[in-house]
Amino acid sequence: MYDFNYEKATSTGEAASKLSDAEDGKFMAGGMTLLPTLKQRLANPSDVIDLGGIADLVGITVDGSSVTIGAMTPHAVVNASAEVQKAIPALAKLAGLIGDPMVRNRGTIGGSISNNDPAADYPSAVVGLGATVHTTRRQIAGDEFFTGMFETALEEDEIVTKIVFPIPEKAAYMKFPNPASRYAVVGTFVSQGPQGTRVAVTGAGPCVFRQSDMEAALGKSFASESVENIKQDDGDLNTDIHASAEYRAHLVTVMAKRAVADANG
Ligand SMILES: Cc1cc2nc3c(=O)[nH]c(=O)nc-3n(C[C@H](O)[C@H](O)[C@H](O)COP(=O)(O)OP(=O)(O)OC[C@H]3O[C@@H](n4cnc5c(N)ncnc54)[C@H](O)[C@@H]3O)c2cc1C
Repeated sequence: MYDFNYEKATSTGEAASKLSDAEDGKFMAGGMTLLPTLKQRLANPSDVIDLGGIADLVGITVDGSSVTIGAMTPHAVVNASAEVQKAIPALAKLAGLIGDPMVRNRGTIGGSISNNDPAADYPSAVVGLGATVHTTRRQIAGDEFFTGMFETALEEDEIVTKIVFPIPEKAAYMKFPNPASRYAVVGTFVSQGPQGTRVAVTGAGPCVFRQSDMEAALGKSFASESVENIKQDDGDLNTDIHASAEYRAHLVTVMAKRAVADANG
């Protein structure tokens, strides 16, 4: 690890100003991705600005139509929340499928979506539920937030503050996990509700994407039979030591079918 200045902010304004003042600063949430990156000397920031002292960024509120989760809320808290379990059980379940207990207790929803790992789970819920990402500057539709592998619409000193998820009528998430890390080899989030019928796929490609053929079929009939014969094109999918593009394409259909069955109870 290279040397860096460690600073802890108590407000988003202070954090943004510390980042602007730094030569090459980086925000830190739970450090679950950032710290291994630093330990492996893959990054060399001049300053690490810890968001862990900003109380406003933690917590969950639920009203009649939405679930709002603060950016610094750990996965374990989302998983254990009785309110989330009641309003969007698929979201609580997704949080409980992430990594291991340490990752779930330190890792945060804001860190996960800001990092935008192609195999991360939360991006599929943000897109699959038609959520809105709130930042220190603006509100960004989930569909516009994830722009590419490890890339988002965030500006350098912009901080995710909360994510607002509309409450669907039906939703479910199914993933085929990597047996070591639990990251998604493929994960498919399906929902039906105020944001329409949505199918969001993570793990398969460089970035989360919507499966429009499945959305159209489920829009007509929200049944697992509607997707079982829809094949995902493997042209843009990932091939790595864990799975070929062809196998990932196959998993997209299998996970979608299982997710729809789960959403239908
Ligand atoms: C062993 C292991 C297994 C894992 N398994 C899974 C898995 O199965 N599924 C899954 O989805 N994820 C998995 N993860 C990732 C985990 O879920 C964390 O959410 C992710 O690593 C981000 O961690 P963090 O929240 O601590 O953010 P950090 O590591 O602190 O930050 C990550 C990045 O986001 C930026 N950032 C953080 N918060 C904000 C914010 N509020 N606004 C703007 N930028 C911000 C930071 O500057 C940094 O660039 C795993 C991680 C590990 C180490």
